[in-house]
Amino acid sequence: MALVSLRGLIVIPFVILATLAGVTVYTLSNVTLSNVSDNVGLHYMQEVESRVYDRVTEFMAPLSVLAELNRDAISHHPEWLDDLDMLAGRFYEQAIPYPYMTFISLATASDGRYINSTRDPFGNASHHVATNYTNSPGSLEAFEYDPYSYVGKHIESEPAYKNYDPRSRPFYQEAVQKQGMVWSSISPYFGYHSLGVGLSVPIYDQAGELLAVTATSVALVSLDNYLQNIDLVDNSYVFLAETNGNLIASSNTNPLYQTIDGAVQRVSLASHQSPVFRQAAKQLEPGVHHVDILDKGYLYNVRAIELPYGQTWLIGVLIPDSYYKGMLAELSEGLLIVVAAIFISIALLGSLIARYIGQPILRLNSAVNAHSLSQIRTLPDTLSHVKEIHSLNQGLQKMAGDLSDVMQNLEQKVAQRTSQLKDENEVLLEQSTTDELTGLHNRRGFNFLSEQARQHAEQHGKPFAMVLCDIDFFKQVNDTHGHNVGDEALSAVAQVLKTNFRESDIIARYGGEEFMLVIAGMEKDELMQRLQSVRQTLVEQPILEDVSVTLSFGVTHLQTLDGKNLGDIIHDVDTKLYQAKNTGRDKIID
Ligand code: GH3
Ligand code: MG
Ligand code: MG
Repeated sequence: MALVSLRGLIVIPFVILATLAGVTVYTLSNVTLSNVSDNVGLHYMQEVESRVYDRVTEFMAPLSVLAELNRDAISHHPEWLDDLDMLAGRFYEQAIPYPYMTFISLATASDGRYINSTRDPFGNASHHVATNYTNSPGSLEAFEYDPYSYVGKHIESEPAYKNYDPRSRPFYQEAVQKQGMVWSSISPYFGYHSLGVGLSVPIYDQAGELLAVTATSVALVSLDNYLQNIDLVDNSYVFLAETNGNLIASSNTNPLYQTIDGAVQRVSLASHQSPVFRQAAKQLEPGVHHVDILDKGYLYNVRAIELPYGQTWLIGVLIPDSYYKGMLAELSEGLLIVVAAIFISIALLGSLIARYIGQPILRLNSAVNAHSLSQIRTLPDTLSHVKEIHSLNQGLQKMAGDLSDVMQNLEQKVAQRTSQLKDENEVLLEQSTTDELTGLHNRRGFNFLSEQARQHAEQHGKPFAMVLCDIDFFKQVNDTHGHNVGDEALSAVAQVLKTNFRESDIIARYGGEEFMLVIAGMEKDELMQRLQSVRQTLVEQPILEDVSVTLSFGVTHLQTLDGKNLGDIIHDVDTKLYQAKNTGRDKIID
């Protein structure tokens, strides 16, 4: 397997995992958030709409309930029409729980008598009874409600209408014409700043004879106030409209109708001042819509309210995308912060690992790879607080310490041994170039030194001489006295040669009883004298008692070497020695 760097091992998986985690968390959360925000938008809108729906249905319910109640009761009790005051009390009491119930009324078919519980929708105090027959027939006048007589004290100085015949009014005529429950058109009340709507229904006796028409009416300003005060997010809109788009109530404070030259003009969504309502007017199909109004997106929901007796109204709710998209943006920002925090945490973790594990290991690595024990030994003791790395460092340091002690010992031992060997070598060299018996240079010693001496003499232009000498008839010495005596004689001869020559002269045992002398820087006369002195010593101080030990010499003395080599000179002295042997021995041939 290929080698992987520690940094790569830590950093690459971290970066990949952090990126994957970040992207996954961000994507999943964004998708979730987007769904959640869409749902939140939808839920919010539907919640608002549902509140409005409940409010409207609750608000409108008494209108039909009371009209039906009165219709059914009177249909079964036509005699009640003989005493309308009692009915006035009934209507009054029915209206008490509903502050916006402006009228509960009844008009008799036979004689056009009219009785009415009436109230000002803007002032709860002025709830009273109106009749057109009590004071003077035909004049519509207002009376206090009195729990005992129902129609109490007259409270207006002038009648509201003279010759008031309710049978000429639309509520009466439309009900009779339809022969059933009928909705009035929505229109402003006379004298009050509110739209109103009513239901009227004809009352027949059990035989089917028309007895009267009864009606209820509510002031829609209550719904308008409700929509204006409903708690909405900024830039949201709610409206209540008829299916033709005419507004009934809205969250907007603009008027719902105008009176121009005495003619009432209702405000429709399409003619509204607000561009949002104008745009909403184009899409009144129930359901959820997305609309763009002046570059702003809105979620727009339309819901139909089916009121009894064939009346359908519409609730519209518009909330701006920015509401839930804003929420999304806030959540996304939060999310980004969380993701960034994860990244930073991972980066911190990575750098902590790099610091506490990676860096110490890299330092250990470079110290070990520098192949220097001192680098390992100078690593700080507290290289890492990670237990294993700390222990690795301690172990390595201890090993490096031990190793350097061992090396130091080894170096000392090697130095000792080397100097010993040097001494031993010198001894060995000495031994290997020395003849054991005589203490003179042996043949190897001669070879080693003679060429050096020749070259030295040649370089310095000194005289150079070689002498080869051989003991005469030595075989007889051995034969006569034994080998040991022969050895002693050899040593004695060597000693004689030594005493007659200089320290600097090379005297070697060249063969069994042959000696070679190499003499540099000595004149021939002196050399000959010294050789004669050797002979003389042998005569004067005999080595053996009964046998005289003599030597034969071959001598070559060169005043200057002139390029002559050792081989030539040796050949020359050998020849001369041979001559000496052949011509009687115990002599010097030069
Ligand atoms: P010449 O005068 O012709 O030299 O006669 P020589 O007897 O000396 O010569 P030869 O070559 O016939 O004999 C040399 C003898 O030297 C033979 C040998 O036994 C003896 N010799 C050589 N080396 C040693 C040694 O180390 N110790 C002893 N004791 N004798 C040795
Ligand atoms: Mg001999
Ligand atoms: Mg010999």
